[in-house]
Parts: sequence; structure tokens; C-alpha cells
Amino acid sequence: MNIISNPNTLEKLKIASDSTDFEPVGDQPQVEHAPKRLAHDLPCITNVSTPTGAKPVMKTMMTTACERNCYYCPFRAGRGKTQRITFKPDEMAASFDQLQRAKIADGLFLSSGIIKGSVTTQDKILDTVEIIRRRYQYRGYVHLKIMPGAEYDQLYRAMQLADRVSINLEGATEDRLAALAPKKNFNEELLQRLAWAHQIRQSGVRASTVTQFVVGAVGDTDVELLSTSERLYRQMGLTRAYFSAFHPIVDTPFENLPSALPTREFRLYQSSFLLRDYGWNVEELPFEQTGNLRLDIDPKRAWAEAHLTHAPIELMLASREELMRIPGFGPKAAESIMKARRSGHLTELSHLRALGIRAPEQAAPFILLDGHKPAVQLSLF
Ligand code: SF4
Repeated sequence: MNIISNPNTLEKLKIASDSTDFEPVGDQPQVEHAPKRLAHDLPCITNVSTPTGAKPVMKTMMTTACERNCYYCPFRAGRGKTQRITFKPDEMAASFDQLQRAKIADGLFLSSGIIKGSVTTQDKILDTVEIIRRRYQYRGYVHLKIMPGAEYDQLYRAMQLADRVSINLEGATEDRLAALAPKKNFNEELLQRLAWAHQIRQSGVRASTVTQFVVGAVGDTDVELLSTSERLYRQMGLTRAYFSAFHPIVDTPFENLPSALPTREFRLYQSSFLLRDYGWNVEELPFEQTGNLRLDIDPKRAWAEAHLTHAPIELMLASREELMRIPGFGPKAAESIMKARRSGHLTELSHLRALGIRAPEQAAPFILLDGHKPAVQLSLF
């Protein structure tokens, strides 16, 4: 049985959805937790993690046509292999309503190619969500893409209607963006919108902002990507930077470039969380001379090997921030240690295990327990 009553609409949804895999939607790193397609025959439904838990989200585009020519993108103007379809706001909203009433979708991620300018395209996205919120009274999760160059009032309305908006910088700097997408303007069309989103949030509108970078197509370095991410976290209240390892698409100007390694994407996520959640500064990250991170080691462990091997941290005295510098220790572990040491001494790795720290042996080279290096018992098996 098809939930979508109009076969033409169903076919368009399939075409639009097949093409949106590169768009980030969830809260988890793409490498470890790539969004999963669900079992039924509706490819537009993707299981993603949202701020309120995992949900089957309808992920689609208003149109797969575009008048811009970003070099990496399958929807770029003039690419013959892309099937071009366009939805009207009523049609898209009704499709979503049918899927969410059938309990197949519980969330919407809506993006679009750009046709007749960014403002007209953004209006179509907004009209769709107005219908979903007003006519169909949907109160659940909505994530909207903001078009480069959308107007302030459009961004404001999008942030009133949605839980989250994406303003994708794509490149870490003006020059990198120019090499990826010659018709996008880094400062005026994108960075300015990220600053507006921050202002709008400060006025009491709650929607969060995320951005995405295309990694590894145009010589970008990790230090560039993470410096820009840090600036966005600190100055513009960004919730999350997504790093999308470049993958060449046939019949685009980048079709012969090599793919970026997924491990690079993963190291960028690890480092980005150190900046966002662990209070690190970008200068502290262990970049190599190339400006990139090592691929063979977690950046926190690389830092610890350089800084803590000869100056281990005493767990009975360390501050919360110092505890979170130790490989394997996150905010929860730091809290548990601080609580436990108020009522007794931590003298063995087994005491850490009892606090729920799963592999304290990994931290052993970098810590002191009540003045002593912990004894690590090697398993025979
Ligand atoms: S504006 Fe968006 S859809 Fe259009 S070519 Fe660029 S990335 Fe693709």
C-alpha cells in the first residue's frame, strides 16, 4: 500500500531523496553513525538522531534544479545526469502530512536547489513549513536549509518555524569557498547569515544553527576548518559543525579528484567536540606541520602523549578541566571522580572502573592515583 496517494508525487520524492544523502541531518558524527534508511520502500525517510532522540525524518528537496554551479554538487546547473523535479509548497506539505499521520515520518529536513534566486527559493521552503505548521498543525521536529543570501526576515521566520536551521559555509575561508562554489559569497551570503542567526537567537527565538564543510577537495587544512568552527562556536553560538568528506561525482568539474578519507572526517569531529564541549582552544590541538591532524591517533591521545606522559595528572587534586584532558575521561567521568574523591581516596584503577569508567587502563600512562602511577594488570587472554 502506498501512503502517498499521488504516484507522480511518490516518484518525485524518490528522485529528490536519492540525491540528498550528502546533507547532514543528525546529531551524531557521520562516520560512526551514518543516517540509516528504513526498511520500507520510501527512500525519503531516514532514521536520524535529533535533539530529542532518534526519529524517522523525511529528508527531501523542494527542487533538484539549481541555477548555481558549485563544483562538487550533483544539482549544479548544466549537469545532464541529474533528474530535475520540483515540488509546489502544497504538494510537499501534503506529502509530509500523509507520512507523519501514517506514523512513517516524525520530522522533516527540507532543503532545495536555487531557482529564481535565493529569496524566491527560501519563500517556497517557508510557505511549505507554514502549511505544515498551520494547516496540518504539526508540532514536531523541523530542520530547514537557509539559502545563501536569504533575507533577514526570512531567516527570522525560518527560526520561528523550525527547531534547527542549516547555513552551510562549505569552505573554511573565503578562498576555499571560491574554489568550491564560485557563485557563493562567503562573507555576505553566508557568514552574515550565521551572525544574524546568533542575533535572532539572542532575541529569544530558540532554533539552533548548524553548518557544513566540504572536506578535502580544494586543499583545505584541518587547522583552517577547526579555526573557523571554533570562531562559529564561540562568536555565533553554532550548535554543530558537520564535516563532509569530499566524494567525487561524475559529470561535475571535480569528477577526477580523489575522495577524502572518512578517517579525516572522524578526526575533525573528535577535535570539533574538544573545542565545543571540552573547553579546548584550536592552538592546543596537535596539528602536524601540514596543518592537518594525524589520522592514526585520536587527537586527545596525541596531545596527552606529548604533554602528560612526563607530567601525569593527579586525580585526587585535578580540576574538572584537567580531568577532561585525560584520554577516556569525558564530562561524566570528571564529575564522578570529583564526587568520589570527596568521600575517599582513589588509589587503584578498579576504583575508577567502579565509577563507570570503562577502560581506565587507557588513561593509566597519564594519571597519578594518590601520588602513585597506577599498576596496570595485563590480561593473559
Ligand atoms: S547552490 Fe546548493 S544545490 Fe545549487 S549547486 Fe550549489 S550546493 Fe548544489
